[in-house]
Amino acid sequence: MFCTKCGTQSSGASQYCTNCGEKLILSVTSLQHRDPVMVLIFSIITFGIYGLYWYVKTKLEMNDSGAQIPTAWLIIIPIISIWWTWKFCEGVDQVTDGKMSGPVAFILLFLVGSIGAAIIQSSLNRVAAP
Ligand SMILES: [Zn+2]
Repeated sequence: MFCTKCGTQSSGASQYCTNCGEKLILSVTSLQHRDPVMVLIFSIITFGIYGLYWYVKTKLEMNDSGAQIPTAWLIIIPIISIWWTWKFCEGVDQVTDGKMSGPVAFILLFLVGSIGAAIIQSSLNRVAAP
């Protein structure tokens, strides 16, 4: 991500510019608007396949916006997938600037699955480019 003040590129992990100390604002233009209701309906009618697609796509978009979520392939490995989902939720926390907190997103995905995905999508829509 690039500093808006001096243009220096900084790693996604740091919140402040390494050159001038300016607070870095995440560019979230790569996030796509999606209808949360359609996310839910597609997940149900495809028996969760759309849900996987949703994870992969939103993960790529969030990483473009400064998040550092590992490869989505990890989601198919038992146990590791839980850790990956946690990292995914940390990414949600980061790109929404805490409006959707990581632990809340994680609990939603575990308790209500596709409904959780729809709720997370609606908070991503709020920070996505219009
Ligand atoms: Zn700077």
